[in-house]
Amino acid sequence: MTIRIGILGYGNLGRGVEAAVRQNPDMELKAVFTRRDPQALRIADAGAKVLHVDAAEGMKDEIDVLVLCGGSATDLPEQTPKYAALFNVIDSFDTHARIPEHFASVDAAAKKAGKVGVISCGWDPGMFSLNRLYASCILPEGQDYTFWGRGVSQGHSDAVRRIAGVKDARQYTVPVPAALEAVRAGRNPALTTREKHTREVYVVTEEGADRARIEREIKEMPNYFSDYDTTVHFIDADTLAREHAGLPHGGFVIRSGETGAGNRHIIEYRLQLDSNPEFTGAVLTAYARAAYRMAQEGMSGAKTVFDIAPAYLSARTGEELRARML
Ligand code: NDP
Repeated sequence: MTIRIGILGYGNLGRGVEAAVRQNPDMELKAVFTRRDPQALRIADAGAKVLHVDAAEGMKDEIDVLVLCGGSATDLPEQTPKYAALFNVIDSFDTHARIPEHFASVDAAAKKAGKVGVISCGWDPGMFSLNRLYASCILPEGQDYTFWGRGVSQGHSDAVRRIAGVKDARQYTVPVPAALEAVRAGRNPALTTREKHTREVYVVTEEGADRARIEREIKEMPNYFSDYDTTVHFIDADTLAREHAGLPHGGFVIRSGETGAGNRHIIEYRLQLDSNPEFTGAVLTAYARAAYRMAQEGMSGAKTVFDIAPAYLSARTGEELRARML
């Protein structure tokens, strides 16, 4: 029997999950739910239904795991607890500071309904979190470093787009090579925000816009840019469409620590992603399998990547995994 998947919210991540489900023969996409007009949505999978979100509840017996692909800012705090009362669910909630409260509200709803609700899955939070945890347990005496990029930050790109005179923009977060090198060399440097990452912005302006003012407003924007060295490039719309259409991302999680007689160890986990949403969708899909299998075993409540044993992610049996991969 295949695992029947539903996708709720069809943006970048929704499309990424759809592509990932196609690569997993033990899964089948049953339906995509959207708040927009379903007739207007073109999905890639011809076999799946496209329905309005109001139809989701009626399909609760036909879907094993509902993958929630809404935005972290306002959609998921509302959608994940709501749908955890009806389905096994999984989300990519990435507002780090609010994860504890999100966990609590999903846990209450999922426990009451006897469902599993996996939250904050993806790469950060997600695979990066898991690697930070493993490394800090193995090397209790050490230092953690996370570098992001080179990659597009949607939040920073949006912030630039809101400046008067800006038509479109793409922001890349870039790790500082010298900082990365010092960490890899085991020098355990104390790095400021400015020393770890730089920011590169590609901007298309409206005709006659004051570029000097726009550049100043970007560089001085509190929280987003003022603590970083930022380079601003003004380009035309065609160049933006040609050279900056993708959503690459990635980064490094590094722990540098010592054991015993002062022997030094470096643990490094690297992601280099051509498409952030497709990769995030692939992680969510593997964890959707885990949610399904854990629910089959009678578990319920909210879970994060920390609570899920790796074998649950695989379509293979424990016996096969031990024979082939251990
Ligand atoms: P999008 O903005 O593309 O989509 C978010 C929602 O907006 C969709 O579910 C969709 O809902 C709606 N939407 C999409 N396109 C349109 C449109 N053209 N017009 C109107 N509404 C639209 O966000 P992403 O898919 O890129 O990202 C979703 C979340 O994933 C992010 O908020 C981020 O927090 C998280 N994320 C987490 C990562 C991790 O590592 N944990 C990594 C990457 C992302 P509907 O169909 O119902 O209208």
